[in-house]
Amino acid sequence: TQPVYHEEDTNPDYIADKTVAVLGYGSQGHAHAQNLHESGVDVVVGLREDSASRAAAKEDGLRVATPVEAAAEADVVSVLVPDTVQPAVYAAIEDELEAGNTLQFAHGFNIHYGQIEPKDGIDVTMVAPKSPGHIVRRTYESGEGTPGLVAVYQDETGEAKEEALAYASAIGCARAGVIQTSFKEETETDLFGEQAVLCGGVTSLVKQGYEVLVDAGYSPEMAYFEVLNELKLIVDLMYEGGLGEMWDSVSDTAEFGGLTRGDVVVDEGARENMEEVLEQVQNGEFAQEWITENQANRPRFNQLHERERNHEIEEVGERLRELFEWAEEETEDEQERAEV
Ligand code: NDP
Ligand code: MG
Ligand code: MG
Repeated sequence: TQPVYHEEDTNPDYIADKTVAVLGYGSQGHAHAQNLHESGVDVVVGLREDSASRAAAKEDGLRVATPVEAAAEADVVSVLVPDTVQPAVYAAIEDELEAGNTLQFAHGFNIHYGQIEPKDGIDVTMVAPKSPGHIVRRTYESGEGTPGLVAVYQDETGEAKEEALAYASAIGCARAGVIQTSFKEETETDLFGEQAVLCGGVTSLVKQGYEVLVDAGYSPEMAYFEVLNELKLIVDLMYEGGLGEMWDSVSDTAEFGGLTRGDVVVDEGARENMEEVLEQVQNGEFAQEWITENQANRPRFNQLHERERNHEIEEVGERLRELFEWAEEETEDEQERAEV
C-alpha cells in the first residue's frame, strides 16, 4: 500500500521562503492562492490583462500580475488554468522558468499525454486535491483539510517531493492525508473514474432509471425522487462508512433487492464496456479525441451539453427543488400557522 503523509511528515521550510505563482483564479486557483497566502507563503496570481478573475483575486487581498510576470518572479509556478489552455499558457511562460524552479500541476493530463514537454533543468510536480476547489478552500478555513495526491515527474533539485509535500500541507491537504502517486496513475484513474463511474456512469444510471419509470406510466415527480434525490442519502452513507454502512442502513428488502438486481443492471456487458473505456484512456484515444474536439471549437461537446441540460429530469428537478427550498425557508411562525 502507498504511504500516506500527514502534516508531521512535511517540512514547511521547503515552501516558506519561496514565491508561488498561481496561474488562474478559478475553482482550484482561488483556493490554492488564498490557502498558501494564509499559510504565510508569498503568492502572486497570474491572470490575463483583461481577465474577469482579476477583481476577485485583488478583493481577496492577493497580488495580481500577468502569467508571464508572475512566472518570472516565482520559484514555483502552479498551473491552475483549464487543462485545455495549459499548453498555450506553458508556451508563453516557458522562458521565465529558471534552473531549479518548479512547474506544478493539479492534474497530469498535459504532461502524461505529451501536450506539455517541460524543459530540462526544472522540477515538475503535482499536488492534486481530491475535491473541487471550493471544498479545498472551505475545509482549509474550517481546519479539516481535504485529501490530496502528490507526484514527481522531473526532479532536478532532489527536493521536488519535499517541496510538493510542503505545498500540499500549506493548502491544507496534509491535515487530511496525502498519497504519493505518479502522473500516469493519477491521470488514468482520474479520467476512468469520472467517465465510468462518477460523472458518466452515475448520470446515465439516473437518466435511464428515470426514463424506465416514466415510460412505464409513473409520475415524473416520483421518478425524480427515487432515482436522483435519494441518491445523495445513499452516497453519504457510503462516504461515511463504505458499502457496509449503506447496506446496514437500508431495509433488508432493499438489501436483498439491491444485491440480487444490481449486477443484473450493471452486468458482465457493462463491465466489458468499462474495460473498453479504460483502454481508451490508457492508449490515449480519449485524450486525442478531446484535444481534437477542442481544436474544432467543441461541436460535439456543445451539442451533448445542450441535450443534457434539456433532459426532462432537469425541468422536473428544478420545479421540485424550488418547492423544497420553500419548505426549508419556512419560518417557525409559518410552521405554527400551517399546523393550525
Ligand atoms: P478553472 O476552469 O476553474 O480555471 C479558470 C481560471 O483560469 C480563471 O481564473 C480563468 O481566468 C483562467 N484562465 C482561463 N483561460 C486562461 C488563459 N488562456 N490564460 C490565463 N488564464 C486563463 O480551472 P479548474 O480549477 O477547474 O482546473 C485547474 C486545474 O486543476 C486543472 O488541471 C484541473 O484538472 C485541476 N483540478 C480541478 C479540480 C476541480 O475540482 N475543478 C479538481 C482537481 C484538479 P479568466 O478570467 O481570464 O478566464
Ligand atoms: Mg478529472
Ligand atoms: Mg425507496
